[in-house]
Amino acid sequence: MRPFPLSLASPVEHAAPLPAEADLVVIGGGVIGVATALFANRRGLKTVLVEKGRVAAEQSSRNWGWIRAQGRDPAELPIVLEARRLWAELAAQTGEDIGLAQTGVLYLAENDRDLAGYDQWAAIARAHDLDTRQLSAAEIAALLPAAAKSWPGALWTASDLRAEPWRAVPALARLAAREGVTIRENCAARGLDIAAGRVGGVVTEAGRIATPAVVLAGGAWSSLLLARHGVTIPQLSVRSTVVRAEAAAPFAGQAVDGELAFRPRADGGVTLALGAAHDFFIGPDAFRHFFTWLPTAKSTFAHTRFRPAAPAGFPDAWTTARKWSDGGPSPFETMRVLDPLRTAVSSSASPALSPNGFPHSESRKSPMPGPA
Ligand SMILES: Cc1cc2nc3c(=O)[nH]c(=O)nc-3n(C[C@H](O)[C@H](O)[C@H](O)COP(=O)(O)OP(=O)(O)OC[C@H]3O[C@@H](n4cnc5c(N)ncnc54)[C@H](O)[C@@H]3O)c2cc1C
Repeated sequence: MRPFPLSLASPVEHAAPLPAEADLVVIGGGVIGVATALFANRRGLKTVLVEKGRVAAEQSSRNWGWIRAQGRDPAELPIVLEARRLWAELAAQTGEDIGLAQTGVLYLAENDRDLAGYDQWAAIARAHDLDTRQLSAAEIAALLPAAAKSWPGALWTASDLRAEPWRAVPALARLAAREGVTIRENCAARGLDIAAGRVGGVVTEAGRIATPAVVLAGGAWSSLLLARHGVTIPQLSVRSTVVRAEAAAPFAGQAVDGELAFRPRADGGVTLALGAAHDFFIGPDAFRHFFTWLPTAKSTFAHTRFRPAAPAGFPDAWTTARKWSDGGPSPFETMRVLDPLRTAVSSSASPALSPNGFPHSESRKSPMPGPA
């Protein structure tokens, strides 16, 4: 098995010495932290970004890489259209190949219910002047000639984009560093300095940075850090599986039906994922936020495999420390790059090959299956 492109084995690329003070400290080097640091620096803030492991080595390199308007809530469309514009601009500014391509997003209907949902969304697309089209079964067959399955119809937005996540976010970080952001990998934030209700600094494993402002972009770890300071956010995590296969891509765009999503990869082959299936590990936060998340748990029940405990070192594992001192070590250093393969991967590692236990589209709640 080829290793994932980003891991703890990847060389440290950002090892800038930490300044004693900054206007803003960003905790976390995923896409949110890197983009925040880049734009804060452009607005004149002296910005430091600390990342416990490697830039983008967690969720921000493992996703589907879609930059899509299709299927969005109308309130999100202006944001997505701006994001499309920004990605094109940023890709040019990085000077790197981030795999940005306008190859379109295709939602394949399984049944009449899906088709009815696509009818509704096509009306939204028309109102926003998008190029979204509804495709017939014959048009789909022409687009995916090798498919063993057929679909009664599809929704297709040719102008939607994708990028290669594990290239795009590190490239943005390099751009940010060139423009003056101080970035330090292998540097966990252990906690915040708070006095009289105000943040005065961030305590990292490499020392303290005095700052009046912090953006916590710690992904799945954010609630753990905040809980140390008595701040509760209703955050729970699930594990979804995305597979890299060496097979030839069925077409140039990215597509999803009731079971499977796929897209070509920038390093050859395809990325495959089971649309909505995920593992949920029960831990202390599951009980803490039980009522907040109950409606979501009910609506996604058919797609969720409940597991009694997260692997050791995961943010909401039963054994993960909830208290630690500034002298550390903190749980963030114990798991520098969240390793989703820590548990047996029996059924979730090859979802396309072993879908038993996961639902068919009849149990899918939304006819709009795209990723976040
Ligand atoms: C299966 C799947 C498919 C998806 N597909 C898409 C898609 O196609 N398009 C799309 O736009 N979105 C998609 N998403 C969503 C997208 O991946 C996430 O919204 C995004 O990656 C979140 O980025 P982030 O920066 O918030 O978090 P992360 O990428 O998790 O980054 C957080 C970083 O913070 C670091 N960190 C945590 N705690 C500390 C600490 N104390 N000190 C220092 N560093 C710390 C971590 O090491 C990590 O690198 C998908 C999600 C999933 C699960």
